[in-house]
Amino acid sequence: MSLSPRTALQVTSSITVDGRTQLALAGVIDETCDLGFLRTLVGQVVLQAREVRRLTSFGVRRWRDAVRAMPPTCLVEMTEASPAFADHIRLVAGFLGPIRLRSFFAVATCERCEASTSLLVDLERYRESKRLPTKACTCGGALECADPQPYFDILLRAAGANRPTPG
Ligand SMILES: [Zn+2]
Repeated sequence: MSLSPRTALQVTSSITVDGRTQLALAGVIDETCDLGFLRTLVGQVVLQAREVRRLTSFGVRRWRDAVRAMPPTCLVEMTEASPAFADHIRLVAGFLGPIRLRSFFAVATCERCEASTSLLVDLERYRESKRLPTKACTCGGALECADPQPYFDILLRAAGANRPTPG
């Protein structure tokens, strides 16, 4: 399913796998999107955020309020956070609330031909290898995160995600 770049956030699919509800999110988090579904989550939930294109400043505030209003009894994880989403995880304190981040997309560039792509950073794999992923480019060069610091910041933040956030 492809959405227009301006479509407000939607849950595009909801499936249950091994007792966990997997919700795919897509669109823009802005002042018009409906985040009410976060308040009704039950049990173990995985939010897949690869198609979250953009967040407005209004949207960021609404998202933060919505994750704080999630039922404390549910266990929520996020996978495949899009580069736009990952930026906010890095820059906005308490952005994920109690949500546990499992993976996110980092932007990687080829030093040889300057092509760019996004590579999935799996937090558990990173903890073992202590390395960000790389990939071979079609030109034979290596696609790597040119500036890894933002991604290290996300990894650090995610490591502290289970601590209660003030306010
Ligand atoms: Zn290349």
